[in-house]
This record gives sequence, structure tokens and C-alpha cells, in this order.
Amino acid sequence: MKIEFDFRIEGDEQPDAFLDARELQLMFDSTRRSLGDGLERKFRDVVCGEHAEAPQFQVTGRYDRQLEELDIHYHVDTCCQFFLLRVMQILNQRA
Ligand SMILES: [Zn+2]
Repeated sequence: MKIEFDFRIEGDEQPDAFLDARELQLMFDSTRRSLGDGLERKFRDVVCGEHAEAPQFQVTGRYDRQLEELDIHYHVDTCCQFFLLRVMQILNQRA
């Protein structure tokens, strides 16, 4: 299993920002850690039954300084469509 993270801050720094640049990096670090741990837990032993390949994840995080919101997106790569459906099912299960 492979997990890649791509976290970025978007927009100009706001004078009255709720989180400063250092606090944002700390939030990114802890978010990466908890998402990574969650994926490891769910997919540690999950491979495609037909091709024996593990899924690959790319997790994108965009922090919008205007809205002060962090948007997380998952991109999943698998060997085949059938396994992708299974991975999406597992991903959407509550921990
Ligand atoms: Zn497959």
C-alpha cells in the first residue's frame, strides 16, 4: 500500500487569521498522521483477490485562507475496476 499526501495552503494570509502558518503546518501534520493511520488500519491486509495488488492512495488537502476551511480529497489507484469498488466500500465504512 502506498499513501501520498499533497497538502497546501491557498490564498493570501489574512490579518485576523484563526490559524497562523505554523499552526496550519501543525494541523496538516496531525491530519496527515491520523488519515495515514486510518488508511493503514483499514487496508493493511487488503489486496486485490485477482491481481494480489495493494491500493494506492493520494490524499489532497487544500486549506482555503479566505474560508478558513480544509478540503480533503482521496484519489485511489487500483489494478482493476472491481478492486476499486471494494476499496471504495472499505474507505466509506466508519472506522
Ligand atoms: Zn485487480
